[in-house]
Amino acid sequence: MASPLRASADRSPRKIAIMGSTGSIGKQAIDVVKGSEGRFQVVAMSAYSDWKTLAAQAYELHPELVVIGDRDAASYLEQELPQGTSMEVGASGLVDAVMAGDVVLNAVVGFAGLQITITALQEGKRLALANKESLVAGGDLVSSILSRGIGEIIPVDSEHCAIQQCMRASVGADEVSRLIITSSGGPFRGFTSEQLSDVTVAQALNHPNWVMGSKITVDSSTLMNKGLEVIEAHVLFGMDYDRIEVVIHPQSIVHSMVEFVDGATMAQMSNPDMRLPIGYALGYPERMPVAYGKLDWRVLSRLDFDLPDRESFRCLAIAEEAGRLGRSYPVWLNAANEVAVELFLQCALPWRSIADVVGGAVESCEGRKMNTVEEVEYEDELARQEARRIVDHLAS
Ligand code: MG
Repeated sequence: MASPLRASADRSPRKIAIMGSTGSIGKQAIDVVKGSEGRFQVVAMSAYSDWKTLAAQAYELHPELVVIGDRDAASYLEQELPQGTSMEVGASGLVDAVMAGDVVLNAVVGFAGLQITITALQEGKRLALANKESLVAGGDLVSSILSRGIGEIIPVDSEHCAIQQCMRASVGADEVSRLIITSSGGPFRGFTSEQLSDVTVAQALNHPNWVMGSKITVDSSTLMNKGLEVIEAHVLFGMDYDRIEVVIHPQSIVHSMVEFVDGATMAQMSNPDMRLPIGYALGYPERMPVAYGKLDWRVLSRLDFDLPDRESFRCLAIAEEAGRLGRSYPVWLNAANEVAVELFLQCALPWRSIADVVGGAVESCEGRKMNTVEEVEYEDELARQEARRIVDHLAS
């Protein structure tokens, strides 16, 4: 029998829309497409303002459509596109890009990815989701769309992709007793509170195992990334917070685990390489023919595990609490974190204050229920204002 993984005469390539193609995940997704032996075809790509990279990607992949968010960038991009590729600007273009794909990869950074997640699901698409913020902020909306049997999410986040793979070892969700989400611990694993008091942007951006965008790398240094991932797991797998555990695993070889009711624990292991979960999500339910994360047992000799230090890394505890409280608490958590991380990257806020800003904002949240994207956006804006107020107060 011919391999189902290869494109053949009777099998057309799967159409992929890459939203956020100029970022770290977007670029790695293009690498996966190029290595897919014709299995995937990029039909649409989007970026916010990096028109030079987007134009180069369009020349390489000849998508039908590119969408750019920034109007000034659009005027440059327009001059640089290959024949056969059309351009749209702004939100309406994003809908057309989503519509063009069989699979929509949401690789946008931050809250801006929410509209793409909601649109892709409402259009009944398979969503390869690398934007965890949209599940943190829009969890209730996403759950309500999925519960109506519309759309489908295949997680690209390596931990959730690992859990999804481990889940395939059971016949039903009622066999699952716990999800164990692993964390490398980030660049400051083992640091004392004193050592943490004056860490720099360069130190925070120096992740030991993963090469990623700057926002998620800072989130990894505070363990906020893990907190967001706990909420993401709660939404994706419908698991109670009492049954989601975080375990520190410095080698980043075990990407997460699922414990079943009979005591068996399944783990997904591979070298840290995001192209594996990206390829898995794009090709699901079939696996890619390229072994991106293949382990070398001559090199790998040990796997260590430990429990997280929630006192030194308060963002993890704050996120778990916000997740448990639900309603608009996770929106406030995420928005305040985005504000704080951006200021930290501009050297306008110390690393240790990120948790103060996020914790203060979550305390100010009134925990409203949200039924529409607009209501989520409203809460997000309130939370950003509150976060900026706290930052000003800390500086005075
Ligand atoms: Mg992750």
